[in-house]
Amino acid sequence: MVDEQGRIINYMRISLTDRCNLRCRYCMPEKGVDNLGHYTILSLEEIARLVKIASQLGICKIRLTGGEPLVRKNIGQLINYIADIPEIDDIAVTTNGILFADMAEELKKAGLKRANISLDSLVPEKFRFITRQGDLSLVKKAIFKALELDMEPIKINTVVIKGFNDDEIMDFAQLAYDYPLHVRFIEFMPVGDLLFWKRDRMLSSLEIKNTIETRYSLLPSKSIAGNGPARYYNLEGGQGSIGFISPMSNHFCAECNRIRLTSEGGLRGCLYGKEEVDLRVALKKGYSDDEIKELFAKVIKAKPAKHNMNAGWGEENKRKMYQIGG
Ligand code: SAM
Ligand code: SF4
Repeated sequence: MVDEQGRIINYMRISLTDRCNLRCRYCMPEKGVDNLGHYTILSLEEIARLVKIASQLGICKIRLTGGEPLVRKNIGQLINYIADIPEIDDIAVTTNGILFADMAEELKKAGLKRANISLDSLVPEKFRFITRQGDLSLVKKAIFKALELDMEPIKINTVVIKGFNDDEIMDFAQLAYDYPLHVRFIEFMPVGDLLFWKRDRMLSSLEIKNTIETRYSLLPSKSIAGNGPARYYNLEGGQGSIGFISPMSNHFCAECNRIRLTSEGGLRGCLYGKEEVDLRVALKKGYSDDEIKELFAKVIKAKPAKHNMNAGWGEENKRKMYQIGG
């Protein structure tokens, strides 16, 4: 379906849970996260029904995220349901990788095509610091498992934070040089646990790119299969690529093709917006597929032209990123 700005909306990100087995400092507070109970989140069957309805409006790409999507029970069953919908041609997850290696084969069999794995440091102690509890060796295992299973393209999401991991930018570039991995540097955004966010901790994509170019020649590359807003470059002579996601320095809203479904059934046109339509209530009230389809159409039509995140996340935004689905 085409929205009012002429954008083709064909991609839905679904948050499966608010829960997470890590506590990244920029995303979640250490304590006091009220996890949603089982009765307030959509069931797997409800999610599958909503995907089916959305597919009739042109949604063909699905990403499962969270919180940490792999802590949701029976995620393989959900992937199975979604893979059975003929209009859906791409199912991916965004994961912190902790549980991935042990689940990957089952998920691939169920129909999972790709995984984006988040990783902010290649130094075990720093990784533990930023995640408050994570074991880097498990994430490495996840990346090698994805390589072994040919889940191409394999993307690594790295949030660059000045004073924390800006000294590792070259090491991440080297990773993309040595392996067929697509390392995406994400600008630090004021969207999670705001106690950790500071404007002077943010490094722009241009600054990161300039750093990398002191060692590597970057050749603009075609976009890598997937659905994101990253700009990609090949590293001359290297196996993988690097990409930049620049929500702070360069709005990509004009190319935005996505809608988002929260674990509680809130349908949103924009991560940063305030508007949300409650599909869970619609399901509980027994709405027909056509009535729900109309709600999807309404959200797509009202999708904001652009976000205003540089003005801050805003008090009025009651939800955090891990609650909407990053
Ligand atoms: N738990 C999964 C993971 O970490 O990949 C999926 C959810 S997480 C919210 C999705 C992505 O959002 C991760 O790559 C994470 O690093 C990124 N993210 C979270 N908070 C962010 C922030 N304040 N600025 C930039 N990226 C952020
Ligand atoms: Fe969990 Fe992902 Fe947030 Fe880290 S970024 S706390 S892994 S949801």
